[in-house]
Amino acid sequence: MPGRSRLAFDAFGYNIAGGAVLRIGASNVTKNETAHSGGCLCGGVRYRIRGALRGVIACHCAQCRRTSGHYAAMTSAPSANVELTAAGPLRWYKSSDTAERGFCGVCGGNLFWKQVGRDDISVTAGTLDTPTHITVEQHIFVADKSDYYAINDDLPKQPQW
Ligand SMILES: [Zn+2]
Ligand SMILES: [Zn+2]
Repeated sequence: MPGRSRLAFDAFGYNIAGGAVLRIGASNVTKNETAHSGGCLCGGVRYRIRGALRGVIACHCAQCRRTSGHYAAMTSAPSANVELTAAGPLRWYKSSDTAERGFCGVCGGNLFWKQVGRDDISVTAGTLDTPTHITVEQHIFVADKSDYYAINDDLPKQPQW
């Protein structure tokens, strides 16, 4: 694993198990939970998530615009429930003093957002394998959205978050 990626994991307290399977946090599986899987376009980064996913938040902030190319649709799960099953090309970009964004260094897929001090990890909903069984629930940072599109649904819209 490249040093930069490993450093980023360590900085956020991720537990690197080594070998083929990398776990984010301790695995804490309970029964009767749904499982989701997903990954980037090239398949170099793959993940599994145990348990329920949060509804999708569409973030229109400038950082999500520039990393996603439009706006970012993010679900979320406790870090302990997220397992990286392939992570070779995963890179982390420190996008602010308090957050990092995980992406694929090969295909550019925008995968994760992780904030310092939070025990959950945001995952771009578009990278989930379908069916996802989740839906968009709100828009955030609508005050920062670009000017080429309108938000035409009736979902809650927060100026920020
Ligand atoms: Zn990729
Ligand atoms: Zn954002």
